[in-house]
Amino acid sequence: MKEYKIGLLKGDGIGPEIVESAVRVLEAVGKKRNIGFTFTPYLIGGAAIDECGKPLPEETVEGCLNSDSVLLGAVGGPKWDTLPGHLRPEKALLGIRAAMGLFTNLRPAKLYPALKGACPLREDIAQNGFDIMIVRELTGGIYFGERGYREGKYGEEAYDTESYSRMEIERIVRVAFETARKRRKKLTSIDKANVLETSRLWRKIVHEIAAEYPDVEVADMLVDNAAMQLVRNPSQFDVIVTSNMFGDILSDEASQITGSIGMLPSASLDSGKRGLYEPIHGSAPDIARQNKANPIATVLSAAMMLLYAFDEKEASEDIVSAVDKVLEAGYRTADLGESKYPLLGTKEMTDKIIENL
Ligand code: NAD
Repeated sequence: MKEYKIGLLKGDGIGPEIVESAVRVLEAVGKKRNIGFTFTPYLIGGAAIDECGKPLPEETVEGCLNSDSVLLGAVGGPKWDTLPGHLRPEKALLGIRAAMGLFTNLRPAKLYPALKGACPLREDIAQNGFDIMIVRELTGGIYFGERGYREGKYGEEAYDTESYSRMEIERIVRVAFETARKRRKKLTSIDKANVLETSRLWRKIVHEIAAEYPDVEVADMLVDNAAMQLVRNPSQFDVIVTSNMFGDILSDEASQITGSIGMLPSASLDSGKRGLYEPIHGSAPDIARQNKANPIATVLSAAMMLLYAFDEKEASEDIVSAVDKVLEAGYRTADLGESKYPLLGTKEMTDKIIENL
């Protein structure tokens, strides 16, 4: 039997409830597929501040680095909102991403047929459905470039700089081609090559690497056009690869057109197999400890972990198809709107997913 060590960062708000759901689903699928998991919780965010005075204790970093993979709930809440910047729970997210060397962010945006009604796009567009994987560069570009204030020609001035090295572009573009290869083999690289020098280097490297992946169809798209195409015809996209800032904005746009924030998982990957898996939503303090949170985004994050960290494709597909079945049967948590049946709580939705594994 294979054994995997999973670090659990439950965090704050609904974090502990949704991580608990994902653990139950992993244990159930592990039993079915003969996979063993050891789960070790570590403190992060507000919970860590309360316990030991800082949002990301060293034991947490060490524990994550010694795990085969890490599952995160969410951090933050009003209790810690007035603390100084370096003590804010959100600071822990940047810290753990940097410590684990996570340079790739995978953000799927899928419209579930059963949830078409929640899609804010026109009915004829929603009808086509969509299933997009955004591959975002996570540790370079303008968010990490030189910045500052200076005295300019017209007085006070601020600046941020974008730079990308060949190494940074090559490694993320390779991840994108590999991802496309496992899906519908279509890659759209998004840039602003009509204006930015970094985008021109990005585009050049995409086409160099494309020669190694003749089975993947590749196209370039300018970011302004991409922002329009995502709402005009999202079904044209399979895998998207883009820089840190463009990916930040486009992945939020893509998540909104699915209409259901409680459904969307994500993965942040290093150059090896470890990685950090987490729902895209926050800690939802308004519904914490009320058994109201939708656990699906976290459960699907666990399914991504099985696929990307452990190559356990069948177990991963078991979870994805169990979620599909539960939604098709008409079961819903409160955030997903209308339901044929009484709305399910976090625990009951988790039970239904486990029943359908
Ligand atoms: P949020 O995503 O926590 O909540 C936005 C809205 O969506 C709320 O009404 C919430 O109830 C609902 N929602 C979110 N997840 C849900 C789920 N699984 N099921 C049902 N409903 C759900 O965003 P926010 O309110 O802007 O932020 C709350 C806190 O979370 C803040 O402290 C913020 O800094 C933090 N946050 C953390 C992360 C993270 O840990 N990665 C990400 C975003 C925000």
